[in-house]
Amino acid sequence: MIPYSTQYIDEDDIQAVERTLRSDFLTCGPRVTDFEECLCNYTDAQYAIATSNATSALHLCMMAMDVGPEDEVWVSAISFVASANCARYCGATVRFIDVDKHTGNLDVHKLHAMLKDAEANHKPLPKAVVAVHLSGRPCELRFLQNLKERYGFYLVEDASHAVGATYEGMRIGKTTFSDVVVFSFHPVKIITTAEGGACLTDNEELAHRIRLLHAHGITHDPLEMQAPDALSKPAYYYEQLELGYNYRMSDIQAALGLSQMAKVDDFLQKRRKLARDYVELLDHNLMTLPVPDTEGFESSWHLYQIQVEHRDEIYQILRRKGVGAQIHYIPIYKQPYYQKLKYHEPLEGAEYFYEHTLTIPLHYKINRVDQSMVAAILASALEKLHALAPNPEDKLSTQELHQVADSIQ
Ligand SMILES: *Cc1c(COP(=O)(O)O)cnc(C)c1O
Repeated sequence: MIPYSTQYIDEDDIQAVERTLRSDFLTCGPRVTDFEECLCNYTDAQYAIATSNATSALHLCMMAMDVGPEDEVWVSAISFVASANCARYCGATVRFIDVDKHTGNLDVHKLHAMLKDAEANHKPLPKAVVAVHLSGRPCELRFLQNLKERYGFYLVEDASHAVGATYEGMRIGKTTFSDVVVFSFHPVKIITTAEGGACLTDNEELAHRIRLLHAHGITHDPLEMQAPDALSKPAYYYEQLELGYNYRMSDIQAALGLSQMAKVDDFLQKRRKLARDYVELLDHNLMTLPVPDTEGFESSWHLYQIQVEHRDEIYQILRRKGVGAQIHYIPIYKQPYYQKLKYHEPLEGAEYFYEHTLTIPLHYKINRVDQSMVAAILASALEKLHALAPNPEDKLSTQELHQVADSIQ
């Protein structure tokens, strides 16, 4: 099976991890500091806090923004569940924002309409909005910034997919338009630390709170302590100021992250090349291809997402032929957990996106030969399906699908 995405680990990565294993520090030592500095240099962000994963990074954002049970947090409907769960960890009410039916990114006009409606009808406005750069294609950040300023909410960019993506020529990661940007370093993402994530911000106060909360809420800085004689206390003395968590990254993970960051431009170049190759190889008449890059607005191409009729059938045929197609994502409001909380209104753009979108393989370890095979299987499957089931509503049995798959060379 060709997976839709997978990590790329080379000898340098292995040696970097081995050196750390032989060093004095396994947890939060010099490599974590170096990795945070590396992320700041790469994105031009002022502060970076490395975390145990992006889920904990998102939770830290909510805590640092004092999100609580009285608050609403509005989240892109199409994302991994973690984008919404972070608000629930703080007891907040989640409302879902509909997405553009072709990109899956939140629809800024629909968000604007929700905000106007809430204001006019004296309903709660969001304390924070979580915008997801789906597949690595940045959201309309300038528009979002205008709404943020007009309605006074915090803006979190869930950039789990978007390391290396650009918006107006600037790399995603600097909070020019938002308050905090979150990265994920899960193995399927652009670079990996196995588990790992980061919060990036130019806001000193948020950075400070995130750093405190990601390490139990404990400070070792006498200037922050409550004890009046803090400055003359012995070195062992520390104070817990808030209820924090242990959401730190280890030096082993950071060593891997540093080694991976040395290759990030190579990773991105390859992903962009593969995306351009797919445009040549895929049959435009049979499917809708993703929005192409333009000058200064480049996706990181974490996911290559096409849109087709008979999506589920195509998914099954591809899997039977060894192509690891995947679905990103089921609208979060459809999850039983959120249904139980009565967040059940289906959203038009999200429903369309979910029904039609298919992720096909794109990662460092595939080449044009693999892509040609994927393209040929897809074209064959779509032609056969259109002949057998001309109506998008027509369903085929599993047996019929297997016959179609097995008739493809
Ligand atoms: C992967 C992902 C996360 C969670 O990342 P982890 O590092 O696995 O916690 C959150 N949001 C989005 C959009 C993701 O793709």
